[in-house]
Amino acid sequence: MAIRQRSTDVLIIGGGMAGLCAAVRALEQGVKVLLIEKGTRFGGSMALSNGTIWSFMDAAVLKRHVPEGNPTLQEMLVDQLPDAFEWLTQLGVQLEPEFAFLSYGRARRSEPAQMTALLLNKIALMGGEAIHEVAMQELKLSDGEVTGVLAFDSKGPLEINASSVIIATGGFQGNPDLIARYITSTPDLLYLRSNPWSTGDGLLAASAAGAAITPLLNTFYGHAMSAPPARFNRLEFQAMSHKYGQLAVALNMAGERFADESSGTGEELLNSYIARQSGCKAVYVFDATVGEKAIEGSPLPSVVIDRAKKAGACVIQASSLEELTQKMVAWGLPANTALRTLRAYNEAIALGKHAELNPTRNGNHYPVVDSPFTAVLVQASITFTCGGIFTDLDMRVLRRSSSISSLALVTADVSELQTQPIANLFAAGSDVGGFSGHGYVGGLSQALVTGLRAGEEAAKSVKSIDK
Ligand SMILES: Cc1cc2nc3c(=O)[nH]c(=O)nc-3n(C[C@H](O)[C@H](O)[C@H](O)COP(=O)(O)OP(=O)(O)OC[C@H]3O[C@@H](n4cnc5c(N)ncnc54)[C@H](O)[C@@H]3O)c2cc1C
Repeated sequence: MAIRQRSTDVLIIGGGMAGLCAAVRALEQGVKVLLIEKGTRFGGSMALSNGTIWSFMDAAVLKRHVPEGNPTLQEMLVDQLPDAFEWLTQLGVQLEPEFAFLSYGRARRSEPAQMTALLLNKIALMGGEAIHEVAMQELKLSDGEVTGVLAFDSKGPLEINASSVIIATGGFQGNPDLIARYITSTPDLLYLRSNPWSTGDGLLAASAAGAAITPLLNTFYGHAMSAPPARFNRLEFQAMSHKYGQLAVALNMAGERFADESSGTGEELLNSYIARQSGCKAVYVFDATVGEKAIEGSPLPSVVIDRAKKAGACVIQASSLEELTQKMVAWGLPANTALRTLRAYNEAIALGKHAELNPTRNGNHYPVVDSPFTAVLVQASITFTCGGIFTDLDMRVLRRSSSISSLALVTADVSELQTQPIANLFAAGSDVGGFSGHGYVGGLSQALVTGLRAGEEAAKSVKSIDK
């Protein structure tokens, strides 16, 4: 039986933040657009998100907080975000006024359900088509150029021919094989705090077509969440996230500190260290004072703990550190080591010797001294991966055989550098590597800016073929 065929000008793979924005932007250029979405709904992880579209206030601040990554891509993100906000509001996406985000960024809050519905509506009104439960499996190539994809839906294989293809599948966090290779030897213990469909299809297909892959494949964004037996669903990912971890003391299952809890742009860096601890687990310990400390944009630690208790999480409260650590034995921690660690931490903080701790504690010098004390068992999660497909500033996917290693970037003469795109192939959103690493630049802003850029450039490339 012949494989079913379809054709379009611009084909977009993935109906999350990046894919939906790319589709509308490409339609604005007057080309024919088809978007395919693997899941049973549109919106990807964006639909589960807080909707806070943020990034750094300028490129210099970004560079200070996220020194790794591709500086030109990072600068583009910061430079183009104000215009991208303007584009969204012109479309009718409801955005709250801009506000300062923590000490380093700027943000506007959206309502993900409204944004998803509006973008889908625009695609339909502008003559585009978006279909779900259709998954891209591989890219079709002719003479090294991308000519479309092989996709599958409930009826079987479907060949879609396209002048340009944009990959926006949201990262590889849902692929245990890739997670075991790059992130943790126990991928099944890492909570998937994401849509369930981002299984690296974009990365694998692009790589098979010859795409270059960025460094930092071992870095990812996520937050520690209440460990089992806590029970919660995907709409409670936010409520079960213990984002205050940077204020607490984090112990591993051996009762020892394993990281500077205060490091990074937020709790996501601590979460990534937990992913490398036994069982992907840790215990966050804090006192009554920290329990009432507000972190911008997040509920008080005491509020998170109340929610966690209701979900059946492992939470201990006690009037002394001795009692608290004794109770931790039920979770498998050695009480003596845990108590010794907490006392050593308190002593160092009291004496101002936080730099002598191992690991050090560079910020948030909060002791654990005010009763009652709280301990909660948390487990690392992954929301999206930060390494991915190598692109240029127009979101063209670069060819591996004519790219350079990141080390060469430091050592090579500029005249030696050469990159070559794979014809007709673009990428956007979390599939693109080079923005975040051990620090985080904002997932929605990355998807918005790269989605717009990819949509525009993919449409321009169609028009240049038409001429
Ligand atoms: C609980 C939670 C809270 C968050 N809060 C924020 C926040 O406040 N601010 C912020 O900046 N970021 C936040 N994020 C992160 C943000 O949602 C992501 O960074 C953003 O959605 C990435 O956009 P994307 O388009 O790359 O991926 P997604 O939005 O995840 O979309 C990818 C889409 O591709 C589809 N897909 C995958 N494979 C295929 C295939 N083979 N064929 C077709 N389709 C495919 C997927 O089904 C999915 O719909 C949050 C995420 C979560 C889960």
